[in-house]
Amino acid sequence: MVNKYRGSCLCGRVKYELSGDFQSFFLCYCTRCQKGTGSAHAANLFAKASTLVWLNGENDVRTYEHPNSLHAKSFCSKCGSALPTFAESINSVVVPAGSLDSPVPITPTAKIFTGSGAKWCLNLDDVPSYEKLPE
Ligand SMILES: [Zn+2]
Ligand SMILES: [Zn+2]
Repeated sequence: MVNKYRGSCLCGRVKYELSGDFQSFFLCYCTRCQKGTGSAHAANLFAKASTLVWLNGENDVRTYEHPNSLHAKSFCSKCGSALPTFAESINSVVVPAGSLDSPVPITPTAKIFTGSGAKWCLNLDDVPSYEKLPE
């Protein structure tokens, strides 16, 4: 029995199903992921030898491959949400954790490229937290 996971973009145009298992889950703090996400880090799950099927909106999926690197990112052309990418070099589907509608089945394996991490996200323990938008 193969595990199946479903996901979608923010506008709902693109939907996908992944058949397989996640071996690792990396929070990547590199400068490319900072640009690509607009935030401190990407959060990507890696599923080796798995099968990705677009259930809807395949024509709206775009993939940006950064020159002279293995960095690639797929996204919805309508809403810009991050979507899974097949990484040929490691025969794995790379799945952005936030794109999953199914529960994320594993916890992060590691933070990587923290040496180039944004300085503002290093000491967040003392930052106030609110369950909802504060009044
Ligand atoms: Zn979308
Ligand atoms: Zn990165």
